[in-house]
Amino acid sequence: MDSRLINKANPLKETVQLLKGVGEETVQQLEAMGIVLIEDLINYLPYRYDDFRLKDLSEAAHEERVTIEGRVHSEPALQFFGKKKSRLTVRLLAGPHAVKVTFFNQPYLKKQLNLNDIITVTGKWDRHRQIVTAQTYKLGPQQGVEEFTPVYPLKGSMTNRTLQKMIKQALQLCKGIIIDPLPEELIVQYRLMNRQAALEAMHFPSNPEDMKQARRRFVYEEFFYFQLKMQALRKFEREQSKGISIKYNKDDVTGFIKRLPFPLTKAQQRVMDEIFTDMLSPNRMNRLLQGDVGSGKTVVAAIALYGAITAGYQGALMVPTEILAEQHAESLNELFAPIGITVALLTSSVKGKKRTLLLEKLKAGEINIMIGTHALIQDEVDFQQLGLVITDEQHRFGVNQRRVLREKGENPDVLFMTATPIPRTLAITVFGEMDVSIIDEMPAGRKPIETYWAKENMLDRILAFMEKELVAGRQAYVICPLIEESDKLDVQNAIDVHMQLEQYFSGRFSVGLMHGRLHSDDKEAVMKQFSENKHQVLVSTTVVEVGVNVPNASLMVIYDAERFGLSQLHQLRGRVGRGSDQSYCILLAEPKNEVGKERMKIMTETNDGFVLSEKDLELRGPGDFFGRKQSGLPEFRVADMVHDYRALEVARDDAHKLIERLEFWNDARFEPLRSYLMEEGILSGGKLD
Ligand code: ADP
Ligand code: MG
Repeated sequence: MDSRLINKANPLKETVQLLKGVGEETVQQLEAMGIVLIEDLINYLPYRYDDFRLKDLSEAAHEERVTIEGRVHSEPALQFFGKKKSRLTVRLLAGPHAVKVTFFNQPYLKKQLNLNDIITVTGKWDRHRQIVTAQTYKLGPQQGVEEFTPVYPLKGSMTNRTLQKMIKQALQLCKGIIIDPLPEELIVQYRLMNRQAALEAMHFPSNPEDMKQARRRFVYEEFFYFQLKMQALRKFEREQSKGISIKYNKDDVTGFIKRLPFPLTKAQQRVMDEIFTDMLSPNRMNRLLQGDVGSGKTVVAAIALYGAITAGYQGALMVPTEILAEQHAESLNELFAPIGITVALLTSSVKGKKRTLLLEKLKAGEINIMIGTHALIQDEVDFQQLGLVITDEQHRFGVNQRRVLREKGENPDVLFMTATPIPRTLAITVFGEMDVSIIDEMPAGRKPIETYWAKENMLDRILAFMEKELVAGRQAYVICPLIEESDKLDVQNAIDVHMQLEQYFSGRFSVGLMHGRLHSDDKEAVMKQFSENKHQVLVSTTVVEVGVNVPNASLMVIYDAERFGLSQLHQLRGRVGRGSDQSYCILLAEPKNEVGKERMKIMTETNDGFVLSEKDLELRGPGDFFGRKQSGLPEFRVADMVHDYRALEVARDDAHKLIERLEFWNDARFEPLRSYLMEEGILSGGKLD
């Protein structure tokens, strides 16, 4: 018996050193992969499987990776190209098929392969030429046991084989002591494989059905844990945090809505009710408001802020960019100044004495609504009585910023707004701890934007079309692509396009230029000139993306549109179609593959941001959905948020129900789940914090 075996009762909690053949070096390699304990090792699941099952070639698709077994039917023929490159070819009789098998750059195989040998080959199948380009081969027939090989994420010089051997040892050591943390009733209800069996099947699959069942179990387990955390957070946010009851004046609010130049849509009314119910309740509001571009979120925000003010509170509106802050300040001032409500703007460009004064007024309660960028959550900013915080374009703020924000003031109610329709599947993961309101209706009389997809060689026709719109008194945006690697290139691109258009429209129309490198004063100036129609065309990088409102603009041309995500294109496109004129969006794109083409096509087919977001998610996957800057998306090892979303919903309901049960908080059998919540920092001492 190994003397290092101290805690035989629970080898799971031992370090991997306990395993035979694991020395200092391996320990370090494993540690780099996040594996310290035996438990970590057995939970280190493969991310895919190589399928070495024999394939009937009559059913194999062109270019599919296949494994076939057959008899060598010709002497291997070796050809050299230059010094290092070679090709070895043999004929193989695989069942009824006579195929060619080629091995590249493995000249030594000539000696190993003999006429009439039985070999098993894996490689790419060329259906038209009846050739298998071999990747691996072995002498002898397929044995069956290694039909599926798990493939693990590896680091350094660790190999798949070595890792697998260690896992085998670890699993043997832990046989019979792996407990299943999932509640018994759920295992029974969904006929889930127990954890021990599922681990064995994931690491050493014996047949596809087992593997499938094991995967199904871990998908559920991952989602269940995740949702347990989200639901606990939600419960915690709701019940344990003292909120404020904002007793708004109903008559005043009704009057305010009546004085708006338009009636609210049904959807706006519904979300207003939801928001006011939250505000009135003594619990803290933690709500996400989703609505497509132009669906009228700003006015909803304004009404909510007004409500808070009628109850004697201050409000804050937080947005991601200074331009947007300025625009919001302007439009809210229009609404509020006439009725004596003070709206102020705090951005990083408000400095020195002006800033001190502004902050003093805020603290004294002389400012009712403060608008700003994340400058608003800095320490020095104190409100007299902050009741409601609204953030626009929520997904740009990280989870931590959300928290800081919530901790400001006396437990203010918080409303997060976003114009990026978030697919349902992502909404329940990223915002699983929040309540969600959706504006799913556009104000009446809005003409849908007509979208076209064009190639760059049609630029002349597009310019002629633009000219027609400009002559009719309307305005146009021209958007140049965002090249994330280098915003220098980005700016250059915009500068070039600007120069070309200035020449083209010279003496007839004025062309403005906007990009991220401009000083914020200059940005503001350009935007102002465009909104006052002093520029008829605005060439811009994506800085205009969010919120900017120039109703007279009726045309948007987007260069290199294939570089953008669908949701981002939709956001950009939302800058037009804000007035009463028919608006157009032209996507200049030369997509290189089918997915790219499909993306452009769907843009021309729908104006529904939710449809686009689901499609975007489907085509690009969750990681890319929010763009490269990460967004607090959880990472699942086995589960796939898109394809397994049903399980995600089911797990959410189950987690929610469980957490609401009294037993969950005191019954011993839920101890593993409670300690998970403790490890995640959500509980302390097994109780809600
Ligand atoms: P969002 O912020 O959701 O993109 P906005 O609040 O900026 O949308 O609204 C877009 C435009 O629609 C604004 O000009 C706004 O005044 C107008 N609007 C909002 N609600 C309505 C409504 N119910 N009926 C008509 N127009 C509306
Ligand atoms: Mg808006």
